[in-house]
Amino acid sequence: MTASGMRTGVDEPFDPSWFRLDGRTALVTGGGRGIGNAIAHGLARSGARVGIVDLNQGSAGAAAETIRASGGAALGLDADVRDPAQISAALKEIQADLGPVQVLINNAGIAIRKPLLDMAEREIRDLIDTNLLGMIHCARAVGPGMAQAGYGRIVNVASISAIHGMVTRVVYCATKGGVDAFTRALAVERAPAGITVNAIGPGIIATPLLAAYLEQHPDKRRRAETEVPLGRIGVPDDLVGATLFLASEAARYMTGQTIYVDGGLVAGDSWW
Ligand code: NAP
Repeated sequence: MTASGMRTGVDEPFDPSWFRLDGRTALVTGGGRGIGNAIAHGLARSGARVGIVDLNQGSAGAAAETIRASGGAALGLDADVRDPAQISAALKEIQADLGPVQVLINNAGIAIRKPLLDMAEREIRDLIDTNLLGMIHCARAVGPGMAQAGYGRIVNVASISAIHGMVTRVVYCATKGGVDAFTRALAVERAPAGITVNAIGPGIIATPLLAAYLEQHPDKRRRAETEVPLGRIGVPDDLVGATLFLASEAARYMTGQTIYVDGGLVAGDSWW
């Protein structure tokens, strides 16, 4: 890694410090809880300054406070990824405090489980506005700064739902398929500017997004524990390693890819 914490020279030999994020500033959306929260803490432990935005009143601020209490640099703000003006304003404040954002973790997302024909138009729009348009708004907001620096890392949080159809999650699956396509297309478009765009695809992860569902359906929990080749439901910290790798210099020759972090779910069936 160079002294400025930016690009390494192509002829430089690999160094384990490439996995670190010292000197970088990262923005994590939906970092108040769940997967985004684990990633925000992981970024801070890897040396990054971390800006966090979240919809939930105060949860981003509380997450940032926890990072600061353990010696990191962080700022948390309430902002809605569905609203480009709120994202621009939050980004401005975060950059004034923590410096130019070089890493975007596009994580905020919601799930609504209903058969398609039972969904209200508002619910369909909310899923698309949050899970797909929200990521597009955030990538556009950080775009000019990353282009000016000639460097950037964007990691989108997709899902196994992008490549695996699921009942009662038709629109959710469509948004995550959109995130995969968005990742590939943006990767190609932004590559000349020195910006890589990749995604992680979580499997079944025990977060507040899933907690109520698993509680109401203990049979599904048991089935998941049997069907996941690695034998358990994931936890948010399982997603941190792959995300930090994609955000780091160690992934400098990767762009447009989705890494599935799912205990082996999409790799194949273990029962047959
Ligand atoms: P979570 O525990 O519900 O956390 C999501 C966070 O995003 C919450 O803090 C939420 O705020 C925030 N958020 C929601 N809408 C927002 C908006 N409009 N603007 C800003 N922040 C917003 O969910 P999670 O399981 O960690 O999910 C994180 C990502 O992983 C999502 O993109 C999800 O689709 C994806 N994923 C999760 C799983 C899984 O099994 N859990 C599997 C595959 C993919 P509030 O607290 O106010 O709601």
